[in-house]
Amino acid sequence: MILRKPTWLKIRVISNEERKFLTGLIKEYGLNTVCVEAKCPNLSDCWSRKTATFMINGRICTRNCRFCSVTTGKPEPLNPEEPLKVALAIRKLGLKYCVITSVTRDDLPDGGANQWAETILEIKKINPGVKVEVLIPDFKGNRDALNKIFSANPDVLGHNLETVKELYQKVRPEANYEISLEILKRSAEKGFITKTGIMVGLGETANQVKRLIDDVSEAGCKVLTIGQYLQPSKEHLSVARYVTPEEFENYHNYALARGIKYVFSAPLVRSSYHADEVFNQSA
Ligand code: SF4
Repeated sequence: MILRKPTWLKIRVISNEERKFLTGLIKEYGLNTVCVEAKCPNLSDCWSRKTATFMINGRICTRNCRFCSVTTGKPEPLNPEEPLKVALAIRKLGLKYCVITSVTRDDLPDGGANQWAETILEIKKINPGVKVEVLIPDFKGNRDALNKIFSANPDVLGHNLETVKELYQKVRPEANYEISLEILKRSAEKGFITKTGIMVGLGETANQVKRLIDDVSEAGCKVLTIGQYLQPSKEHLSVARYVTPEEFENYHNYALARGIKYVFSAPLVRSSYHADEVFNQSA
């Protein structure tokens, strides 16, 4: 059964010069964005402010998460020019803050960590003063891979739990809640501003969300985003329910009370949505 979208999820479509410029630039540099690949509902809003989240390590993901519309399959070899191209695109856009994410590359021995580190370093080299937020995969818990990311010194280290522990098998069958939580713990211990995000409306209970918030708080994570899951296509998990703005507010208050300092909880919130403003508040 397809649920009718509530009014609070209505999206305003914006088409302006900034959006046209960004679209052209992404094409010119041959880059990928999670905005397009994941069919983000905020694309119009973000791109009209010349903001996008670049997706590195190719555009084919080796995993098959049931909520995500990024193409899954056998990836192409890494493009050695990708770090430089991302860095140049950021310069051309004149960004002071950027968010980078990637597909999961379980096919590579380092999970793509080396390309990750090179991308962060190249961005910083070509764009002095720019802040880099990374939204990393779990690298199957590979400590060396994670250390490689730490050594490139991103300004914010994000890793999304995506959903409550009880729904991992259904939503992220190839991932592991404990491994993801451990990444947040290790990042926070290293002193990074650590950020995670989840979707709600997948069938979780309020108590399960609260237990996740407790875990996130204990991990030392400073920033939490909570948004409504939206089904990207008929092949993906359907929306179990639309969480009301009041319930988002309740999660927000609960997380603050549990000591998470910056909580962004609303239907259209995504982990990279207005990330620069989130950073300015949390730094
Ligand atoms: S919220 Fe993030 S993924 Fe969505 S359009 Fe904005 S930058 Fe892209």
